[in-house]
Amino acid sequence: MDLASYADLAIELVNTQDRSGDTLRDLAGLHALLARRPQLAGRVGHRDLDTMRALRAQLRAVFAAAGAGDEEEAIDLLNSLLIQHPVHPQLTRHDDDWHVHLNEGGSVPDRYAARAAMGLAVRVGERGIDRLGVCRAEGCGRVFFDTTAARSRRYCSDRCAGRTGVAAADPPPQPRVTEAVGAGHRAADRPAGNTATRDGGQ
Ligand SMILES: [Zn+2]
Repeated sequence: MDLASYADLAIELVNTQDRSGDTLRDLAGLHALLARRPQLAGRVGHRDLDTMRALRAQLRAVFAAAGAGDEEEAIDLLNSLLIQHPVHPQLTRHDDDWHVHLNEGGSVPDRYAARAAMGLAVRVGERGIDRLGVCRAEGCGRVFFDTTAARSRRYCSDRCAGRTGVAAADPPPQPRVTEAVGAGHRAADRPAGNTATRDGGQ
């Protein structure tokens, strides 16, 4: 079992909500989130949904603090989650081999939270708290774990990076909004857009 891989649970849960919407508004959304995780199968009700939404907010706060450069705050928040959701390892038999599993008992949110917090903590311990980030693209807000050698990731996806690049090169009707968001990124695109504007005005 790769504990660090459980960090993906944290990212997947936080990213059920971005500035364009929220897929964790009802039980169907929770079922969809859990469908990819057979080890987290189990009955869930509205109370579980509320618990998962609260956990989402707590996890987002860790990413937000880290993304804002407040590493101590991010670590404190993550340590609180580890205390609130302790890991209970146990040996489980598969095909005549014994494996260490985490939190086989308890509610679905309890099992999800323990794995997500532990996975995030292990990955942060291996790679650093500054690897956690929030997408800089306007209207996104999704979170990610930066695995680039230069620790230079700014966007959740190529789509967001591309969208921001397009916005900088082709100013929308409401000006001056994308420039602040795109500051420091895709710098090569912006002079081209500015030049085109200037040429058009002369
Ligand atoms: Zn994004």
